[in-house]
Amino acid sequence: MILVTGGAGYVGSHTVMALLKQGEDVIVFDSLELGHIEIIETLKQYGNLKFVKGNLKNIDDIRGVFMLNKNIDSVIHFAAYSQVAESMINPQKYYYNNVYGTLNLLNAMLEFNVKKIVFSSTAATYGEPVYTPIDEKHQQIPINPYGNTKLFVEKIMDDYDKAYGLKSVRLRYFNVAGADSGAKIGEWHNPETHLIPNILKASAEKSFKMFGTDYNTSDGTCIRDYINVEDLADAHLKALEYLNNGGETNYFNIGTKDGNSVKQVFTACENIKGTAIPVELCPRRSGDPAILVADNEKAKKILNWTPKNSLEYSVETAYKWEKALSLK
Ligand code: UDP
Repeated sequence: MILVTGGAGYVGSHTVMALLKQGEDVIVFDSLELGHIEIIETLKQYGNLKFVKGNLKNIDDIRGVFMLNKNIDSVIHFAAYSQVAESMINPQKYYYNNVYGTLNLLNAMLEFNVKKIVFSSTAATYGEPVYTPIDEKHQQIPINPYGNTKLFVEKIMDDYDKAYGLKSVRLRYFNVAGADSGAKIGEWHNPETHLIPNILKASAEKSFKMFGTDYNTSDGTCIRDYINVEDLADAHLKALEYLNNGGETNYFNIGTKDGNSVKQVFTACENIKGTAIPVELCPRRSGDPAILVADNEKAKKILNWTPKNSLEYSVETAYKWEKALSLK
């Protein structure tokens, strides 16, 4: 059985769906502070899924899960806060949840002798890019508390491997996009800060705010690497397979190696919607580097993983999901 923390959230839920479709038994542990019970109900249709509501900040919540489910053999850990701007205003919230909460999880794992974990890390651990595309050897100097919390956990995992033999794979995500092909689950944040849902949600009353059109890029807007959420979910399955085959502790970028500008994404959204989307050109958002693109060769070679879905497909599924969400 695979324990998935944060399985009611965006990337977590798509990974749970992929695991269930592969016939795995899954137990989701989620506080439901940001995750949604409706997503869990939907996921239950895909296979053997148990749900436990709990918070990693309470060690007894997570110890109880291992105590009652002795057949858990590996963990995929998503549960975390992930908003950069909020982490700068309220770092305490981020360190307490993302670092202390993870320590509780790791300590419970050791207590119950579970020694394989796949962890959702982030491109934010690299900080300001020194070169592009960014490979895994790039320096890791985060520029915000969110990135720090993820980097600290990566370091803790290295030390826990050396001392206790706990094996980890850290997946450093770039920009996640899209929804599952049936649009049964998708991105559901409140408030929403991400580019694609914000473009798709724009209306005559509330236009889309394009942050920064004076960057040193081909069209003046920021360039990002948009990785489809089902491709990202597949990377977690491959990472688990790697650990199950005796793979050593490791870390991988998960991206497409292709950059798209904010204007290109905006055009893709207009094309899928088939209508003009109201836009307001705004100043730069603080902390946004001009270009963030992943070198994904290491994951391709070692995990045998390749991204398959295009940006257009991500936008198409995100749009279907937005329509479904507006009816919820
Ligand atoms: N962005 C934007 N308007 C929005 C949200 C995002 O122009 O409402 C831009 C943002 O400035 C960045 C890119 O879209 O250049 C991707 O931002 P997002 O928040 O989706 O992901 P991030 O790169 O911050 O992880």
